[in-house]
Amino acid sequence: MRLNPKIVTQLQKKIAAARSILLLAHEFPDGDAFGSVAAMNFVLKHMKKKVDIAYLRLDNSSWDYLYFFKGLNIHEYSELAEKKYDLAIILDSSNENRLGEQKVLLSRCSFVINIDHHPDNSEFGDLNLLHWASAVGEILYFLFKKMKVDISRETAICLLISIITDTGRFKHSSTHRGIFKVIYEILKFVEPDDYYNIVQHLYSEVSLKKSKLIREALNNLEIFGKNIAFSYIPEDTGLEEGLVDNILSIKGIGAAVLARRVGKNIKLSLRAKDKTLNVRELAAQFNGGGHIHASGASMQLQDLPKQIEEIRQKVKKYFNKK
Ligand code: 5GP
Ligand code: MN
Repeated sequence: MRLNPKIVTQLQKKIAAARSILLLAHEFPDGDAFGSVAAMNFVLKHMKKKVDIAYLRLDNSSWDYLYFFKGLNIHEYSELAEKKYDLAIILDSSNENRLGEQKVLLSRCSFVINIDHHPDNSEFGDLNLLHWASAVGEILYFLFKKMKVDISRETAICLLISIITDTGRFKHSSTHRGIFKVIYEILKFVEPDDYYNIVQHLYSEVSLKKSKLIREALNNLEIFGKNIAFSYIPEDTGLEEGLVDNILSIKGIGAAVLARRVGKNIKLSLRAKDKTLNVRELAAQFNGGGHIHASGASMQLQDLPKQIEEIRQKVKKYFNKK
């Protein structure tokens, strides 16, 4: 990956000049959002910067097994309401709205750097480091190399988490051969058991609560046309991350759409494993976006059954035309 050298130079200058830095990612941080922010945090800490992390609605239980988790300087945005920063670095967010309510923090940051891999990124930063990549963690690996910073064990673990999760453990269409080389390089910086521990925690067990949610999603499952799966979860459980993949993994299914309640919103997750299907186009009909084969959208909750029915009809209609 060849990052734009001018942008990298500007970014380095901004980091060098900044004393206080705020790191942010999209709300409901997934592995890429969690890992890329945490990796950047370790690199900046090594450079003796004052760093705060704002995660909004992070599922702590997914990450608190990490030996360094407690030491991360994580805050809810409301705790940072009075603070000012020389610099904000935003990772894995295609636009400012993906930050959710914590967007308000940006007005108190003198400069905003946006580092992302979403093709529909709105370039909302004062400086934008955008590159096609399987994960933001992949961009960071090349950025850190360019910056000639030492990659610590913690940084390497975070980059692994970011890449393993955003490639869907190397099964999404974004998985390219170069990523294995990156993984090979990153593995040099971790301890022998680290990789095993990460994948065990990520993939070897599912809580009973979540298993019951999977059952609910399967109960509500409908199949449109040849291979389109649609389902919904009416409750707000905070455990739906990855649930859409359970539906998508059903043999013969080419694309899956899951709607669920999240606070005062309804969130849609769309995934395709049939490469001819573009779910981003459908997400755009709900004012969402993302990648061609993994996208999402969010809308205000008004009347859940009515809205679920409208979404259902739109999904059905969209794929009927295909
Ligand atoms: P997820 O289904 O995991 O929440 O999101 C999958 C992908 O869809 C994300 O990586 C992101 O690119 C995109 N995405 C999710 N929600 C939204 C949204 O509300 N708006 C936009 N523009 N993209 C979204
Ligand atoms: Mn990502």
